[in-house]
Amino acid sequence: MFTAKARATFSPEGPFTLTTIERRDLHPHDVLIEIKYAGICHSDIHTARGEWGPVNYPLVPGHEIAGIVTQVGSEVTKFAVGDRVGVGCMVDSCGECVNCREGEEQFCLEGNTGTYASIDKYGQYTQGGYSTHIVVTEDFVLQIPDGIELDVAAPLLCAGITTYSPLRHWGAAPGKKVAVVGLGGLGHMAVKLAHAMGAEVTVLSQTLKKKEDGLKLGADHYYATSDPETFKKLAGSFDLIINTVSAKIDLNAFLSLLALDGALVNVGAPAEPLEVNVFSLIGHRRSFAGSLIGGIRETQEMLDFCAEHTIAPEIEVISAKQIDEAWERVLASDVRYRFVIDISTMENE
Ligand code: NAP
Ligand code: ZN
Repeated sequence: MFTAKARATFSPEGPFTLTTIERRDLHPHDVLIEIKYAGICHSDIHTARGEWGPVNYPLVPGHEIAGIVTQVGSEVTKFAVGDRVGVGCMVDSCGECVNCREGEEQFCLEGNTGTYASIDKYGQYTQGGYSTHIVVTEDFVLQIPDGIELDVAAPLLCAGITTYSPLRHWGAAPGKKVAVVGLGGLGHMAVKLAHAMGAEVTVLSQTLKKKEDGLKLGADHYYATSDPETFKKLAGSFDLIINTVSAKIDLNAFLSLLALDGALVNVGAPAEPLEVNVFSLIGHRRSFAGSLIGGIRETQEMLDFCAEHTIAPEIEVISAKQIDEAWERVLASDVRYRFVIDISTMENE
């Protein structure tokens, strides 16, 4: 075991304080990563505040990790010291069930091992990327393509793959009309990715405050959901709606915006149930679905797609001392569009 520095919260209310955590000694297939940047995802907040159920404290969140390999286990074949790598929301899975064999490890029938707040196969409580180092089995480590800097790579590991996967699965492409609900961390990546896939993209935000940004990110249209006219004007018009909102929304109002055979896919994960009126679905053979991150193979495909299309998230880099402040801004929908912690500021504390 060895010691890493970390920023942890000791209760649902926080605040974050500097602490040390143990990382395991390397097993034959493990790599040790020196973390350079860690993104702040709204899921970190839902989890740490106990909104999705009780968790253990101290808790070190962070599942958008980018760094450098500094040591490899004796049987590692995929990585070498010095490689630029990423780790997303999961660090292990059973590897044997039908979903793992299909490369959909996020849907492991045994439950994937989360990067934080999970128990791993060694019986240890996992701790995430708001930390200087992490040890991960090589099968759950991603290569970051040369064209992508480490600071902007970090948010791709969750916000990027969580939006890429449903856009691909539900066929975002030229001739398709895609709407993105909520222009935050996930939402702004959904806009960039859907645009790069050739779809006609509409942002549905609470207000028009970020309209100029949305259009620059690649949206063709931008509407405020606080304006009832929006729902009249856009009724029946989308093939696919990706809902990234972290809170409860009026689902039936958004379902009414789908065309025949359209699908509304929820990636937003509020703790409260969303109510579906079946008449919102049956009249136009609509679907309501959900999607969870993406598998490891698809995550690498997304990273390569971003390198090829020069897609990177819009980030605001912060120091490790600013995490509490950044969380408050995420909660106030005041993020443009992902906070990324510069882990070197923790190294020096
Ligand atoms: P975020 O940066 O906070 O973005 C959420 C956006 O939703 C906000 O920027 C805001 O956009 C909108 N919003 C917030 N509160 C709202 C409200 N009360 N009513 C209407 N709109 C509201 O969060 P994120 O990191 O993108 O994460 C979004 C959600 O996805 C979270 O619930 C997170 O846990 C979940 N998530 C799921 C997965 C998965 O695998 N399914 C992966 C990662 C995250 P506007 O200001 O434009 O309205
Ligand atoms: Zn996330």
